[in-house]
Order: sequence, then structure tokens, then C-alpha cells
Amino acid sequence: MDGRGNDAPAIGIDLGTTYSCVAVWKNDRIEIIANDQGNRTTPSYVAFDDAERLIGDGAKNKAAMNPANTIFDAKRLIGRRFSDSNVQEDMKLWPFKVIEGPADAPKIVVTYKGQEKEFSSEEISSMILGKMKETAESYLGKTVKDAVITIPAYFNDSQRQATKDAGIIAGLNVIRMINEPTAAAIAYGLDNKSDIDGKMNVLVFDLGGGTFDVSLLTIGEGGTFEVKAVAGDTHLGGEDFDNRMVDHCVMEFKKRWNKDLTGNQRALGRLRFACEKAKRILSCTTQTSVELDCLHEGIDFSLKFTRAKFEDLNMGSFNKCIETLETCLSDAKMKKSCVDQVILVGGSTRIPKVQHMLQEYFDDRQLCKSVNPDEAVAYGAALLAAKVSGSGDKSVQDVLLRDVTPLSLGVDIIGDILSVVIPRNTSIPTSNAKCFVTTEDNQYSIRIDVYQGERSRSTDNHLLGNFSISGLPLAPKGVSSIMVGFEIDVNGILTVTAAITSTGKMEKLVISNENGRLSKEEIEKMVNDAEKYKLEDQEFKKKADAYNALEDCLYKVKNKIKDYNIKTRVHPEILEETEKAIAKTTKWLKDNRAAPFTELHLMKVHLEFVCKQLI
Ligand code: AMP
Repeated sequence: MDGRGNDAPAIGIDLGTTYSCVAVWKNDRIEIIANDQGNRTTPSYVAFDDAERLIGDGAKNKAAMNPANTIFDAKRLIGRRFSDSNVQEDMKLWPFKVIEGPADAPKIVVTYKGQEKEFSSEEISSMILGKMKETAESYLGKTVKDAVITIPAYFNDSQRQATKDAGIIAGLNVIRMINEPTAAAIAYGLDNKSDIDGKMNVLVFDLGGGTFDVSLLTIGEGGTFEVKAVAGDTHLGGEDFDNRMVDHCVMEFKKRWNKDLTGNQRALGRLRFACEKAKRILSCTTQTSVELDCLHEGIDFSLKFTRAKFEDLNMGSFNKCIETLETCLSDAKMKKSCVDQVILVGGSTRIPKVQHMLQEYFDDRQLCKSVNPDEAVAYGAALLAAKVSGSGDKSVQDVLLRDVTPLSLGVDIIGDILSVVIPRNTSIPTSNAKCFVTTEDNQYSIRIDVYQGERSRSTDNHLLGNFSISGLPLAPKGVSSIMVGFEIDVNGILTVTAAITSTGKMEKLVISNENGRLSKEEIEKMVNDAEKYKLEDQEFKKKADAYNALEDCLYKVKNKIKDYNIKTRVHPEILEETEKAIAKTTKWLKDNRAAPFTELHLMKVHLEFVCKQLI
């Protein structure tokens, strides 16, 4: 029993590729909740080792020492197949192992407590979501159930579903999923409500740690948000800038010492950490240095970094950001002069060069920086959570929401052609239906392949799933018909139905495992596993506390016995008994590092008893 009530307000979680953030509506405003380390964002990292599982800062801090079992970037895997070319490319860069699981689902392999374990990306993401849930629970003092989780606007159906599954595994009731730029715009819109009279076109420029997204939204009267277009690069962000700095340092090291440190993982990890820190400093000063003692083969390393050098190293990426921005505007068929506001989201938008280039592109327009770029998405998600759960005030309740489909959705028709049922950038929720006829004489059944994408050849797009409908009345080709209906709910989740026009018989698309979607049984198993790992974590903490308490007690007794006064006051027999107990406990502790809680506790009780005699 933890004595917590069950009436915590719904929370908003920004589940990011590199960092996550949680917020809640409290005291008539949004509060960004700091984690147990006092940080307002938490690294999306999970680490496993011989003794424990770490999530967040703890996992990231130890990443350099345990690279093969420190998992990050789960968001790049979620809802994707193992054979997906993106997964294959990403795998080359990850220090952890990913294998092909059943139904082409990627599985992450780690060694945990000396045993090999496999996890799906949903499970890893659920551990991060669980950490965010716990962070909110310790702040609110109540059990959190309901949450709004954000996803990138370009996420397809299986990625959305898989993220929702991760929420379920973490024990959350996902009341809504919301596109990240929309969340950021909600955060902005509410903060600046007086600005919104009539229509306003807002460009959300989100440059985070690992990804870059640009979205064009229209905020209408009464606070409605409509996403007009999205564009982005799933591999462009702060980590690339760090890597370029690391590469530069490696080159310098080679130049100065003629030594290659690319094989030294620990040195590279330390360099990356130092470069990231230097990068942040360069956002407010024009020069800093990277200094590391004993970096490689006992050699100390020190390098001066100027802001100009940093910009020079990353100019290619910055230019790419502007190109992507142009694609977004042209997709939305909008001139840059029609953009009323430019919102900065993501930690990397703090880089002065990025801000200058953006400002220049928009003819010196002021950029909106009033919302903290690391927190804007969680802020908006929490506002929506308050709205959906009815806990916010009137201004919150007024926020309406209209997202759009990031990609076209349709079915495959004869000749490998995609027949689009819902075009790209349609506001959601939405539904549409199309009639299809038989292509053969006496055709009894029709198979419906559902695709997502912009290519005209069906098979060049992303296959979401398929199903068949049978029982068509036998007739010459082109006579019998079916009506295929597409419905997208407020979360962007798609349901496809097919009905035989003449009989009304209907079938629904059940998204199968082949699409990366988990079955109910799998989700249930993962929910149970999540609970198991949580218990294991608690058990570990209990044991670690008992170990520390025994060590602490031993230390105190040792110090006491060293005390000259004690030696003169205490009977030599008691002294001898204590010394023996100290020696025995010290040896026992050395040999029994993995002893269970009860044994550790008993040893401490015994030692305390001896200590009492001493006093
Ligand atoms: P996000 O994913 O939005 O939390 O962004 C995290 C990224 O922002 C990381 O790559 C950070 O290194 C980067 N970042 C945070 N603060 C700064 C800063 N002041 N200057 C440059 N990059 C930053």
C-alpha cells in the first residue's frame, strides 16, 4: 500500500528520441515536473547490468561504461519492421544488438543479471514512459493513470499504435495521442492568446537531439489548430553536431600524436560527453575548450573550440534544415510571407546560427522563443490532457484540435496502383469511402491491401495491413462491388472496413503482427513483464540499501574500536569479540556481494548488537 489516492490529473508526456519530458496542469497552470535528479527532461535511455536496471539520467551517465546494454533511440525502432531500411541503417550505428524477432519485429538483445534477454522497442519505450509516470506520481503524491503522449507528425499507423501499446505496458491509460508540433503550437497559442484574432499561420521548427521536424499549422479563431503540412529528417539533430565535434577532435588527436582513438570506445564516449557540453557553452559564448585528462594511452587532450569552427563543421546540416523548411512550405502551398509566426522547439534551436539563418530566411521576422524549447511539447500535451480530462480552466477547455494525416492512405488496385482513399494532409478525425468492383468473372472474394505513402506504385509505399472479404455474388467482372471505408480517429488511428454493396456483409482490418503491431496477448505479457521488472528494481533497491547499511555500520564500529578511550574502557574480551565480528563481517561482505536482503539485514543486526556491548 502506498497510501496514494487514485485521482491524479491526466499528465502530458513528450516521449522524445533523446530526451523525454512530463508536465501536468496544477495550481491553474502547467507545471513541468523535474525528475529525481532535479532535471526537467529525462534521457530516453534504459540500461541493464549485472545487478540492476536503470532508466533516464542513471542509464545515460553510465552509457560509456556499459555501451552494449545501454539502450537509446527506441523511438527509431518503434512500430517498424526489422527489415525496414531505416532500421538496418540505424543498427550499424548502435552499440547494442538488435535481432530479427518473430514476424519481422526487431528485438533488442541485452545481458541483464548475467542472462541474455530480448526486449521489443515497445517495452523499452514503456520503461521510459513508466519513469515519467513515476516522476509525476512522486510530484503529485497520487497514482497517475491517464496520459496524453506525443508522437512525431510523420509517424505512420503502426508507429502510433506501437507507441500507444508502450503506454499500456507502462500502466497508462492513453487518453489521447497528439502530434508534437500541434502540442508545441497549443503551448504557444495559449500563452499568447491575445495574438490570435482571425487566422494565423505558424511554422513549428523542431530541431532536437536526433531528429528534425518542420510543420506548418494554421491556428484559427477560437483556438483551433490545423496541421497543413509536415516535413523533416529523422537523422538530423544535436547528436550529429556532437559527432562532428568528436570527429574533429579525433582528427586533431591523430594530427598531434599520430594515434587513432576510434577503436577506444571509452575515449570516444568521454569525448562525446565533453563535446556536447562545449556545444551548449558555444550557444552563449564565442569560444570554449574541450579538455580531457588521459584520453588515450595516457595522453591528455585539450582543444580550443570557437563558435565559428562549430558553425563551419555543421553548416551542411544547418543548410539542410532550411531546405527541408522550404519543402514544408511548398507542400503547404504557402509563401514564406504568409507565415505569421515561427516557433522554436527542441534544444538545438538554441544554437545562435540556426536562429540567425531562420530569421534571415523569414526576412528578419522575430522568432517565438517564449516557450522553453525543451518543454513546449510536454507543455502542450499537458494542456490537452487537462482539456480532455476536464481538469483545466475555461481557456484550456477552449482549445480545439485538428490534426492532419501525414501521408496518403489507400488500397492497392489492379496493376500495383495505389488508389488513395484519404489524401495526405486531410484534417482528422476523418472518414471516406470508395467503391471498387471485381476484376475477374465470378470473383468470390477480394483482398484489400492497405498502404500509406505518396508513391503511385502500391508496393513502393508502406504496407499497413491486409484483409479479405468473401461471399461476393457470382457475376461477370465489374458487376459485383464493395465499398471500402477508411476512418481515422482523433489519435490518428486508422480502421478500414469493406462491405459487399449488394448484401451488406462487412469485414474490418485487423492490424496483424506482420505490421509491427503487437497482439493483445503480447501486450498482456509485456504488461506483466513490466510489473516483474519493476518489482525486481524495488527488490534490488532494498538489497542495495541493506548492503549500504551494513557497510555503514561496519565502518562506524571500525572507527569506534580505533578510538583509544574505548580500548581503555572496554573489557578486553568484548574488544576481542568485536574485532572478530568486524573481521568476519568484512570478509563476509567481500564474499557475498549478491547476498539476499534478509542475510544482509541479519548481519547488520548482529554487528549492531556487538557494537552495543562496546558502548
Ligand atoms: P531535445 O531532444 O529537444 O530535448 O534536444 C536535445 C538536444 O538539444 C541535445 O542534442 C542537446 O545537446 C541540444 N541542446 C540543448 N541545449 C543546447 C544549447 N544551449 N545549445 C545547443 N544545443 C543544445
